[in-house]
Amino acid sequence: MTSPIISINNLKKSFGQLSVLKDVSLEVNKAEVVALLGPSGSGKSTLLRCLNLLTVPDGGSIQINDNTMTFTNGKHSKLPKDKALAQFRANTGMVFQQFNLFPHMSVLRNVMEGPVTVKKMPKAQAEALALKLLGKVGLADRADYYPDMLSGGQKQRVAIARALAMEPAVMLFDEATSALDPELVGEVLGVMKSLASEGMTMILVTHEIAFAREVADKVVFMRDGVVVEAGPPSIVIDNPKCDATRSFLSHFYGNNA
Ligand code: ADP
Ligand code: MG
Repeated sequence: MTSPIISINNLKKSFGQLSVLKDVSLEVNKAEVVALLGPSGSGKSTLLRCLNLLTVPDGGSIQINDNTMTFTNGKHSKLPKDKALAQFRANTGMVFQQFNLFPHMSVLRNVMEGPVTVKKMPKAQAEALALKLLGKVGLADRADYYPDMLSGGQKQRVAIARALAMEPAVMLFDEATSALDPELVGEVLGVMKSLASEGMTMILVTHEIAFAREVADKVVFMRDGVVVEAGPPSIVIDNPKCDATRSFLSHFYGNNA
């Protein structure tokens, strides 16, 4: 038995009166792909943001790799000092719905930027790494382009390469295909699928139910800040036990679910 690469215990987060994560616990094993499903407002993005401390939890703990953060001070919980924070954040690479590329930098520079500025990697080495990763996402021939010369699907693939350049242990995808025109969704899902098949540990928030069923090892259904149901796709998607899960899925499958 290997220990999980991520262990989230009793995580809590409120914004003012609104309790967004009520008591969330979740374990993710190395090379596992976890799909996080749930209606809008259920706390999915907040959970992902807590994992790299873009949002500071009020309570509970998060262990990723060998780093553990425990939050005991409610809304007064604070972030750790710079070095510990940077070390914790380096465990995860995040891909957002909006690509957030640097518009004034070439595709190559966008991917090199993290390794050069954060990791102090020599430029030649960062360039070689960036070219390798651009090849992996099928964009080696776009290295000298600028973001506004690319389609949404290409931009998102650059954003994935940029996150991979930091060599994270876990990749987090927050509705990575939701902003894309339908004909561009497939190319991004294709890259995500190939990452999964290479053994990357991934947590993905998605409304692509068919993709989640195909790629995920575990599906977690959240509603109102709690995990309602978690298990293999053959259970949570095909034979959900909870009414809330069934009702959510029925929006995607009409009245078949
Ligand atoms: P999901 O990703 O599942 O749609 P979110 O985690 O984005 O859900 O949001 C959950 C709830 O928390 C929503 O009601 C949202 O409005 C609220 N929320 C999220 N971030 C903030 C914030 N920074 N300040 C106040 N409320 C927030
Ligand atoms: Mg969200």
